Amino acid sequence: MTDYVVAPPAISAVPIKGTDKMFPVRRIFCVGRNYAEHAIEMGSDPTREPPFYFAKPADALVINDADMPYPSMSKSLHHEMELVVAIGTGGSDISVAHALKHVWGYCSGLDMTRRDIQNEAKKTGRPWDMGKGFDHSAPMGALVPAAGVDPGKGKIELKVNGKVVQTSDLSKLIWSVPEVISNLSHLVRLEPGDLIMTGTPEGVAAVVKGDVLEGFVEGVGTVKTKIV
Ligand code: MN
Repeated sequence: MTDYVVAPPAISAVPIKGTDKMFPVRRIFCVGRNYAEHAIEMGSDPTREPPFYFAKPADALVINDADMPYPSMSKSLHHEMELVVAIGTGGSDISVAHALKHVWGYCSGLDMTRRDIQNEAKKTGRPWDMGKGFDHSAPMGALVPAAGVDPGKGKIELKVNGKVVQTSDLSKLIWSVPEVISNLSHLVRLEPGDLIMTGTPEGVAAVVKGDVLEGFVEGVGTVKTKIV
């Protein structure tokens, strides 16, 4: 046995819906600006941009509808409701045609964003990490197996305090789920346990302490968290 000099990190994991099994999380990749209307609201041209990525640490997960603490060093915490893909079979240079065979399942997730820190990073040409990859920045609902889910269509919606704030359809993804998997697998070798957050539709906005966020992707499930 390896003699580690500090305790090795706990395994981050997402529950599997309706079971007591867990999906161990290796990495969390996120796609930027993948719905045209959201790209426009962020001041970008949605037509000409190839997909681009950032990441969150695996231990940024918030699961089982747990509360999300309002993060430090920000006055502008934004919600981004997203479909999340869980990779079950690894691979590099995956073709679009074979991409969905690498998917274990799907869940609903929130790419919580310190927008003020992200905007400052954009202005200064610095990395987005501290705007995106902070503690508790990735609330996730339970995973459902890929069989029976069509990631090409279905309503995606987020309510804050019962009021719909984001609503769209997976058919409006600029880069589809198979295209994202294929493209990302040319940049890094995907491995079992990787999660991919596929981007948010329009309607992102700030939340405050006490707000209750309830997201849903048709055919996949829900994600819920309270900001505390
Ligand atoms: Mn996002």
